[in-house]
Amino acid sequence: MCRTNQTVSSMVLYSPGRTSSYPEDAPKKGLRYHCLGGGDEVGNVGIVFENEQQTRLLLDYGLAPTNPPRYPSEAPKVSDAVITHSHVDHLGMAPWLCSNHRTLLHGTALTAQISEMMWYDCHKVSSIENYPLAWDKRDIDTALDAWRIHDFGETWDHDDWKLTLRKAGHIPGAAMLDLETPQRKVLISGDFDTRDSPLTKGAKPRKVDTLFVEGTYGGREHPNLDEEIQRFIEHVQRVVDRGGTVLIPAFANGRTQDVVMRLHKYLPHLNVHVDGMGKRIAKMQMNHPDTLRDPAALRAAWSWCRRVSSKSDRKRALEADVIVSTSGMLQGGPSIWYLNRLRHDPKNAILFTGYQASRTGGRQLQNEGTLKIFGKDTEIPLEWDTYSFSTHAGHKEIVDFAAACEAEEVIVYHTDPVHARPPLAAALEKNGHIVHNPVNGISEYLGEDFSRSH
Ligand SMILES: [Zn+2]
Ligand SMILES: [Zn+2]
Repeated sequence: MCRTNQTVSSMVLYSPGRTSSYPEDAPKKGLRYHCLGGGDEVGNVGIVFENEQQTRLLLDYGLAPTNPPRYPSEAPKVSDAVITHSHVDHLGMAPWLCSNHRTLLHGTALTAQISEMMWYDCHKVSSIENYPLAWDKRDIDTALDAWRIHDFGETWDHDDWKLTLRKAGHIPGAAMLDLETPQRKVLISGDFDTRDSPLTKGAKPRKVDTLFVEGTYGGREHPNLDEEIQRFIEHVQRVVDRGGTVLIPAFANGRTQDVVMRLHKYLPHLNVHVDGMGKRIAKMQMNHPDTLRDPAALRAAWSWCRRVSSKSDRKRALEADVIVSTSGMLQGGPSIWYLNRLRHDPKNAILFTGYQASRTGGRQLQNEGTLKIFGKDTEIPLEWDTYSFSTHAGHKEIVDFAAACEAEEVIVYHTDPVHARPPLAAALEKNGHIVHNPVNGISEYLGEDFSRSH
């Protein structure tokens, strides 16, 4: 970490009413949206919707767990927020919201249940990494009390707006938001995928006027999933055949369970150990079978793998064929403990299951062959490879989804504005959609271009 504490604090400490990019004037006629964060960046989402009657709603309030983290601009006073899913880039700042504005949080039961763990973990990481947070542990209790639970498909009123959560794929409990105002039908994708994963079924399109779509994978196509799995399975088997142990660093919330389910399906003869927060999250997912594509498959995979729950279990896991463990980008977690031991035997290997962000342990290992262990750069002379098990829609899935929604206008958010968005916006425009490229801190109106063109 190269920033001084002082610089970091000034970034996060909101001074209510003075550090918001949100405009003070009421919207003119129409539906206005304003990205506090997540407009022209991946994660860190917070979008305010408001009309001339001053009906106001916040969608998500996260932070970006980068190094150092990024935070959205201070949210204005808002009575209600919809939280699409339980990843920290979508709910990490909600405790601040609830304790400062008494905001109610709307989401699915599973999202609410997992939120507690995500907030405690976020708090823990910020203290270890010495990043101040704009909320403290007591605010977690306030936020937990603020949850209002909604089933998928259940509609509730927010003034004269109608809100409904729809399945988004991505991870269990993840929702898209159907926002119906008297003037416009809007669908906000949250993080979504139209492809099935072991855990979830793909999101289904809906006919709307306006679509907000996450553009994480704009301009990039996913590899053929069957071929990718085949390659992954063969690699695992190869390492096991030569007497090695495979370490699979995986995010706790979604990826760990997807990986274990795939191993159970294709390599049931192996001895697979699972460590980290993903164990508790799997239990929560099993308590909400309505969010799962195949609850029996998750239960079967979970009773098949060995859950590491003590120090002696952890030592035993070193003899396993496969260890699936947090953190997914080798930023702390049991993965580091395992690698510190596995690194001595070149028969072992590391298989990443997703992109390793810059300034993470995973990226350092890929670029330099070293990893920080107890503060010291340590050589990890092991074979490694990366497999793409993303549950975000790829370029083609996004474009097809927008077409199937027959959306007049498409707002591409949650995206890299330099590499990902331009090719995606071009493809969407070619299909006849009016495309908005939101910028954090700048308000825009929905339907404006459309009405102007009539
Ligand atoms: Zn996200
Ligand atoms: Zn997500």
